[in-house]
Amino acid sequence: MTPASGRPDLLGLLPERLVALLAELGQPAYRARQVFAWLHRGAGFQDMTDLPASLRRRLAETSTAGTLRVAARQTAPDGAAKFGFTTADDNLIESVLIPHPRRTTVCVSSQIGCAVGCQFCATGQQGLVRDLTAGEIVEQVVRVQQAALPHRVTNVVFMGMGEPLANYDAVVRAVRLLNHPWGLHIAARHIAISTCGLPAQIIRLAAEGLQLGLAISLHAATDEMRDRLVPINRRHPIADVLQAAREYACRTGRKVSFQWVVVPGVNDTSDQARRLGRLLRGLPAMVNLIPENPTGGSGTPDARAALAFARLLRGQGIEVAVRRSRGTEVLGACGQLRGQLDDQSRAGRAATRPA
Ligand code: SAH
Ligand code: SF4
Repeated sequence: MTPASGRPDLLGLLPERLVALLAELGQPAYRARQVFAWLHRGAGFQDMTDLPASLRRRLAETSTAGTLRVAARQTAPDGAAKFGFTTADDNLIESVLIPHPRRTTVCVSSQIGCAVGCQFCATGQQGLVRDLTAGEIVEQVVRVQQAALPHRVTNVVFMGMGEPLANYDAVVRAVRLLNHPWGLHIAARHIAISTCGLPAQIIRLAAEGLQLGLAISLHAATDEMRDRLVPINRRHPIADVLQAAREYACRTGRKVSFQWVVVPGVNDTSDQARRLGRLLRGLPAMVNLIPENPTGGSGTPDARAALAFARLLRGQGIEVAVRRSRGTEVLGACGQLRGQLDDQSRAGRAATRPA
């Protein structure tokens, strides 16, 4: 359902549901393929020129073809772009386009706000407003794809606002929609879910038969420190999260990546490096170090602490990457645009929806 209008958003329907819905309108099965392809290219019903005009009218009266409006777009000198979208119920979400010579990645939001409340995260500080629908998740990729042409989106990461595994069903449905050959056809291997670490959902995801990448936001190697940085750790301690990660790696054959926001003077000590080395022993894993982005939308992250911590980890035999801060000088971290947009929207919403 579309929040606010109560009409079904066709962009969130799996092909079999679309076939059934069109059959109710007396339409043959091939119409579903046509409609699906149009929707996932970002078309409105009026653009679906190979459908009978009466069907286009009927669909427009009874359903929606996406619901998001583009509220803002900021582009960094390196081509990275941050998009602010307004939902039908007037909330703001964000997505990021990350260009690269060999791939084009979209970072999507899975919830409006987040209930987990990590200490350094702007989204977490806002609390949870609601889950996004599968249609709203897919539409972020569709709209960013329109803006990225002639490049094709090759990768999707669930690293925007929200905790994807707390919105499990919509996220997995969105993955299946993005992966479908009638639409954007993005390989599941090129889709990654980043989670604060919900063990039961990680194990469930391992059994979906999807080859998704899994990134676990660990940030600390002791429960004492993780309890403070990622409050959900009090319910799901490190040992449980790592056990689920082991099962995920075993079941999918994929290496698990661990995210670590480097908070200088807190989690970049040699003691944390040593303990992390011990925790990851025997697990097909790599560590992604992310220089902490100052929240509040100002200042740039300092990579020095991350580079020094990377050396400590490599000394433990751990595979490490330090995330380059693409576009951060203009864009801030995920979760930070919303604060800026809220200010803008209070000054008067100038939201437009591309045709
Ligand atoms: N909820 C999921 C996915 C969204 S957050 C998760 O926590 O994994 C995506 C990543 O951004 C997480 O690794 C998170 O720790 C990181 N992040 C959040 N706030 C940040 C900040 N201020 N600076 C750098 N990274 C941040
Ligand atoms: Fe939520 Fe992820 Fe932010 Fe933590 S880092 S508050 S889990 S969005």
